Amino acid sequence: MSERFVDGDIQNTEKEQEAQLRPQNFEEYIGQERVVENIELMVQSALVRKAAMDHVLLSGPPGLGKTSLAMLIAKSLGTELHLVSGPAIEKKGDLAAVLTNLKPRDVLFIDEIHRMHIAVEEILYSAMEDYRLDILIGQGASARTMQIDLAPFTLIGATTRSGLLSNPLRDRFMAHLNFDYYPPETLARIISNNAGKMGISFEGGAKDEVARRSRGTPRIANRILRRVRDFALIKRKKVVGDAEVQGALNLMDIDELGLDTMDRKILSVIKDYYQGGPVGIDALSATLGEDKQTIEEVYEPFLLKQGLLLRTPRGRVLSEKAVKHIS
Ligand code: ADP
Repeated sequence: MSERFVDGDIQNTEKEQEAQLRPQNFEEYIGQERVVENIELMVQSALVRKAAMDHVLLSGPPGLGKTSLAMLIAKSLGTELHLVSGPAIEKKGDLAAVLTNLKPRDVLFIDEIHRMHIAVEEILYSAMEDYRLDILIGQGASARTMQIDLAPFTLIGATTRSGLLSNPLRDRFMAHLNFDYYPPETLARIISNNAGKMGISFEGGAKDEVARRSRGTPRIANRILRRVRDFALIKRKKVVGDAEVQGALNLMDIDELGLDTMDRKILSVIKDYYQGGPVGIDALSATLGEDKQTIEEVYEPFLLKQGLLLRTPRGRVLSEKAVKHIS
């Protein structure tokens, strides 16, 4: 998934910093109650049965806690978590190597599973269903299938677009759990906790302001929090207030609805170039010079959720609220 604001080395630094802020247990994992309830039941059942937990598909926009949840699942099961990115697995052999390395009841997390190559995906079918690898050796008349038994394992698939998953793959997940954007009150609790981990605390309504501007997304809240922490460090303060929060939000160009430069650019382009729409995703992506999938998976879901953008059969249309906002 392409990340907002960041790339390359900066992205790696963010990954490292993210690791420090990850919830360490289910008590620290705040919100998404329905998802967590389902998961806790599945974990308990697996522990009682002394068997691998059922395969589960987690879907929802980036930064909402899918990876963090997978880490907690493996921890609760007392097994190892193996993390791979779907599109990064180029050959069947690469996935076969990962699968044959799994120990009984291990958890395999495949991020962006909807972007996996179809040829690679196909070897997952028998792996998920029968814990078996069917590998074709040779070509033409001399070709034969070799079967390798796998340890019983749990596959956790994460996707920002569950609709793009092929039916055979989707059907093999016993549970489909959807992540939704966090309401500001829930985000505020996450922000408080993470501020504590960074050695700062908030006064007055400052943390609620961060929560309101974080697009319902803990990862974005963490990013704002880091800038707030920078201001606090420079000012040698441990308790931060509105001034530091405003400073961080201005620096990151985040407006009162939580939209950043790219969100506003999307809305402005539809207004100025396409008279408010409808506009197709290909035309929009060409005008913006931004990857189509990134628009669809990273930016659009929040704009739709906020009622700023409307999806019609003929394309994307701006709502009145959006026109007012960017005017
Ligand atoms: P995803 O895999 O969905 O992109 P992550 O699990 O990587 O999202 O979450 C990004 C960051 O957001 C984590 O490092 C963590 O600090 C924070 N986070 C996400 N969900 C939660 C949650 N439910 N409670 C507390 N922190 C969370």
